[in-house]
Amino acid sequence: MAEENNKQQVSRRHFIKVAGRALCGVALGGIMFRVAGGHLTGSPVGPNSRFVWQIDPQKCSFCGDCETSCVRRPSAVKAVNDQIKCSNCVICYGHIFDKRIDSDKVMSHGRRVCPHDAVTRVPYSGGDEGYFIYDIDHKKCTACAKCAKECNQFGTASMFLLIRPDLCLACNKCSIASRCPEGAIERLHFGSEDNFRGIYELEKPV
Ligand code: SF4
Ligand code: SF4
Ligand code: SF4
Repeated sequence: MAEENNKQQVSRRHFIKVAGRALCGVALGGIMFRVAGGHLTGSPVGPNSRFVWQIDPQKCSFCGDCETSCVRRPSAVKAVNDQIKCSNCVICYGHIFDKRIDSDKVMSHGRRVCPHDAVTRVPYSGGDEGYFIYDIDHKKCTACAKCAKECNQFGTASMFLLIRPDLCLACNKCSIASRCPEGAIERLHFGSEDNFRGIYELEKPV
């Protein structure tokens, strides 16, 4: 069971890494993106067209509608943390609300921003006072946007929302796009010209 969970985790992380590269459009183009989709497990429908619905993080106001407006439950939208921009702080604003708390009490006493405790925190170096890697558990994330909102308001804006193409049904008319108050969701061509976020990494080499 543990081994199976491990495999699923590796599979997800592999996808996320590839998708991140593909969506940033620097090293990989749309063809590779579709090839990557073929490796996915547990996704009902992969993108089958030359288009993908994506969120412009510059426009998103983290209103929370991505959680409830997607035709899928849970939503095809997930929060992610860009490991390039993340400062790996002892206290992460997307992780806990407390701004002043003893470092050794973060996990035991910190008030979680995420209602599902989906923001994970693992030591990277230096024990309680060192660096930490923050990630999002997509099995728990419902796309409420609370973590990304806090991170963008108080932190380095490393957390943001994206539509996972392996979960998205590629609806002709995205129901979130129709309701998004900021007009932040657009249908894009796969390809190097489509680059909302720029370069980002969803895994940190340990
Ligand atoms: S509906 Fe629009 S503004 Fe609201 S969280 Fe989604 S992308 Fe952001
Ligand atoms: S706070 Fe909301 S968007 Fe962030 S990880 Fe939790 S469920 Fe997902
Ligand atoms: S295209 Fe459909 S499945 Fe994809 S995010 Fe929009 S509503 Fe959800």
